[in-house]
Amino acid sequence: MQRDRSEQTKPLRASPGGKESWFIGWINTLRFQVLGLVIASVLIPSFLGGWFASTRIDDLLRNQVYSEIETRTQRLSEKIEEWLNTRSREVQAFTVSYLLNDDLKKLQGDISAGEKDLSRRNIHSYLSYLLEGNEFFSGITILNSGMSPLIAQPLEDRQALEGAMKAPPKDQFIMEIRTNGSSRLLLGQRMDLGRNLLPNYFIALMDMRHLQERILDLAPSGSTVYILDSEGSIKAANVAVSDSTKAPEGALALLRGEEVRSIYRGLQNNEVIATSSWFESLGWGVILETSKREALKPLVVFRRQIILMAVALAGLFLIPALFLARALVLPLEELSRVSRRIRAGRPGLQVERRIGGELGEFISSFNSMSTSLKESLDEITAKSEEMRVMSITDPLTGRYNRRYVEDYLRRELELAIRTGEPLSILMIDLDHFKEYNDTYGHIAGDIALKQLGDILVESVRKTDVVGRFGGEEWIICLSHTNRKGGEKIAEKLRRAVEKNTFLLKGHETRITVSIGLATAPEDGKSYAAIVEAADTAMYLAKAYGRNRTQVFTGPVSS
Ligand code: GH3
Ligand code: MG
Ligand code: MG
Repeated sequence: MQRDRSEQTKPLRASPGGKESWFIGWINTLRFQVLGLVIASVLIPSFLGGWFASTRIDDLLRNQVYSEIETRTQRLSEKIEEWLNTRSREVQAFTVSYLLNDDLKKLQGDISAGEKDLSRRNIHSYLSYLLEGNEFFSGITILNSGMSPLIAQPLEDRQALEGAMKAPPKDQFIMEIRTNGSSRLLLGQRMDLGRNLLPNYFIALMDMRHLQERILDLAPSGSTVYILDSEGSIKAANVAVSDSTKAPEGALALLRGEEVRSIYRGLQNNEVIATSSWFESLGWGVILETSKREALKPLVVFRRQIILMAVALAGLFLIPALFLARALVLPLEELSRVSRRIRAGRPGLQVERRIGGELGEFISSFNSMSTSLKESLDEITAKSEEMRVMSITDPLTGRYNRRYVEDYLRRELELAIRTGEPLSILMIDLDHFKEYNDTYGHIAGDIALKQLGDILVESVRKTDVVGRFGGEEWIICLSHTNRKGGEKIAEKLRRAVEKNTFLLKGHETRITVSIGLATAPEDGKSYAAIVEAADTAMYLAKAYGRNRTQVFTGPVSS
């Protein structure tokens, strides 16, 4: 009876089509939902926070890196410019010599050739003296107002400077001059020799390697620095370049002023962040390229730290949160499992209480509910069994009552007819029992009836059913028993009753019975027919003198 309920417990949340996938079922579990919530509430904030911090600080750091590189370039170009200015001031200082001015005036004045020769020698020795005392200049030439060399030291420069400058330049100037394939810097200073006299031009030449050396000196470590002229050809660099080396397009764009900074493949073919600055005096630009990877290294380190922090933070909160979730989910799952088993017919099952607090109290209540349920159900079961027994028991004799025997006989008869097995019934009636009652009283009669029931049960097989049919009549159902077998049992019974002494208030009394025997299927196939036949036989037994067994021989004609 209880087992049947288990059928109802299976589809807990079946979808209309009954096709609910395991996936939906899994999502609906407390375990999934609590776990999901815990993980989401710990991981999402820490990773979102990490992501937010990293993008924000990323931008700040990036801008800082950029502005640092820009400052570096600016400072570098200022230093080079300052160095060039110092050289220009040196050149200016060379021109203020009174003797030089005097000798130049003489050289271009109206004097004898011998005197001119002397002045020329003076100037040459002065220039030699200047060149010896200065490490940067490799030659000095003085031009007249028509831009033709007056004097050159060394002499070969004379040719180089012949026609090199077209228009008279301004007071002080720096430019590049290319001679015999080599490039040099030219630092010039106008010399005003006096009133009504045309100016001369003092020119000091400097090897480009000095500029190169400055760059090597000043370039920040790890960066590539090079100087470009307005055409974009490389004049000096802190790395090895050949004449054919082309400046990257990105660098040219920077020089054209299209961008303040640029990221491109640099001179050394690595990805660089580049900025530029301009030399006003020369019309040249300086490019400073910093390896992007190196420059943004702090950013990578920072990002790694943020990730580590986010993971550590998540771990720090996740582990206790998972433990808490586990402590909540496991008892609830256990409760759900046990309640399903109780519903399936196992009241009294208990959930182990491993937790305190509200949940612990809930488990205790659940357990006592389960216990009460079991007690109530046990009581009901016992009561219903008691009632079932009562409903089939004769209260006076404690033997089966007529209702039970009737049901039993109908079933057995049906089975016997179907299987072709014989079945016999005995109808037993006490002889002169009215008299017995009259003699010993009804109470004694009742006791005798009870004792008779015991004798009948003891005298038949375990499988035979003995019942009180009504009053002092008994019926016995003998399965798998033919007429002959039935007769034997009936006789055995009759004799057992006959021999038995019924003790009553010190009196020894005797009782006899008359037995009618009918056998299915020959004497009847229905319940009514077979009982009727046995009854008829029993009345015949009475008629033939009582205390005997009578086999049914056919209906009695009245
Ligand atoms: P016979 O059957 O031999 O013809 O005679 P009888 O005196 O037994 O007659 P019958 O079967 O007609 O009588 C039934 C008697 O059985 C009547 C009643 O006094 C007695 N009797 C029936 N039921 C009970 C019972 O529950 N207790 C007692 N003490 N007597 C009963
Ligand atoms: Mg009777
Ligand atoms: Mg009788």
